[in-house]
Amino acid sequence: MEGLYPWYLDQLDTDAQKARQVLAHPHRTLRIIRALRAIAARHAPGPERADGSRRCRSCQAVSPCEELRLLASAYDDRPGYVSGWRPWGS
Ligand SMILES: [Zn+2]
Repeated sequence: MEGLYPWYLDQLDTDAQKARQVLAHPHRTLRIIRALRAIAARHAPGPERADGSRRCRSCQAVSPCEELRLLASAYDDRPGYVSGWRPWGS
């Protein structure tokens, strides 16, 4: 599956790896990342519909939903971020 959700999870994985390597006590950062990952999972894309679209598993909006876009916007300066994912438009 391509799109914002897997890309966002990759960004969280990168931050978790950096936290383990750089921080002497990464526990709080890793807990924050775990919480963000759980919120993102609630807003993951659901199954593909007949028309090829997907809906958020939680809020049923067209995926990626506003909540997932807001979470991912923290990484809008990283490679792979698509300007169309911005929650406030490009
Ligand atoms: Zn949602």
